[in-house]
Amino acid sequence: MFDDKKVGILKDGVYKIVTPKVILNAAGAREKFLRFKGNSLSGVYGAGAFQTLVNRDLIKSTEKLFIIGGGNVGIIAGYHALQAGINVVGLCEALPECGGYKVHEDKLKRLGVPIYTSHSIVSANGKESVSSVTIAGIDKNFQVIEGTEKTFECDTILIAVGLESVSEFTQEAKSAGIKVFAAGDASEIVEASSAMFNGKIAGLKVVQHFNPDAKKIPKS
Ligand SMILES: Cc1cc2nc3c(=O)[nH]c(=O)nc-3n(C[C@H](O)[C@H](O)[C@H](O)COP(=O)(O)OP(=O)(O)OC[C@H]3O[C@@H](n4cnc5c(N)ncnc54)[C@H](O)[C@@H]3O)c2cc1C
Repeated sequence: MFDDKKVGILKDGVYKIVTPKVILNAAGAREKFLRFKGNSLSGVYGAGAFQTLVNRDLIKSTEKLFIIGGGNVGIIAGYHALQAGINVVGLCEALPECGGYKVHEDKLKRLGVPIYTSHSIVSANGKESVSSVTIAGIDKNFQVIEGTEKTFECDTILIAVGLESVSEFTQEAKSAGIKVFAAGDASEIVEASSAMFNGKIAGLKVVQHFNPDAKKIPKS
C-alpha cells in the first residue's frame, strides 16, 4: 500500500497497481511460534501444518508426539493424533490451567496423556531431527525453575501457542489514508463460525460505507 492510496497486487502472476475505494482485510491469522534451543530441527511443527497432514492428507507423520500449548488447538490436535494411532507422550501448558475446553482436556487425560501445567519447553533435542524434548516448570514470571527439567523421547513437537491477526494490511491502509475494514481472524481471533459472522457484519459495514442511507440490507 502506497502513500498515494494505491495498492500493489499480484493477479495470475502479473503485478498490478489498483486504486481501491475501500479495503477489506480478510487475510486471517498466523500461528505464533516460540524461541527455544533446537526450534529449527526437523520434527518441530506448527499445529496447522500438523493438522493438515493428519486430518486432510491422512498422513501419520509421527510415532511419538509432544504438544506445547493447552488451548483448544493443542488439545484437539492431540486427540486427533491419538485417533490416528500416534502415541502422544505429553502436553505442557505455561499457565496453571489449560485454556482449552475441559471436555477436550478430559479426553486426553482419560486416554493417559500426561498434562504438565505451569511448564514450558526448554529445548528440542536431536542432531538433524527431533529425538527428544526437554520441558521445565516455570514460575509466575514464566522463568524456568531450575531442577524441574524433564526430558521425553519423541520424534515430533507440536507448537500450538495461539494465533495473531494478520493486521498489518489494516495498519498500512490506515496510514495510507485508505478506508479499511477487517473481517475474520484478521479482525479478532475466535473460531471459524465467529469469523464468518463478523465477516457478514464487515460486509454490511462496507455496503453502508458506500450507501450511508441503506437501512435494510436485502437478504439475497
Ligand atoms: C491449527 C488451527 C486449528 C483450528 N481449528 C479450528 C477448529 O477446530 N474449529 C474452528 O472453528 N476454528 C478453528 N481454527 C480457526 C479457524 O481456522 C479460523 O478462525 C478461520 O479459518 C478464520 O477464517 P478467516 O477467513 O478469517 O481466515 P483464513 O481461513 O485464515 O483465511 C485467510 C485467507 O487469506 C489468505 N491471505 C493471507 N494473506 C494474503 C495476502 N497477502 N493476499 C491474499 N490472500 C492472503 C490466506 O491464504 C487465506 O486463504 C483453527 C485454526 C488453526 C490455525
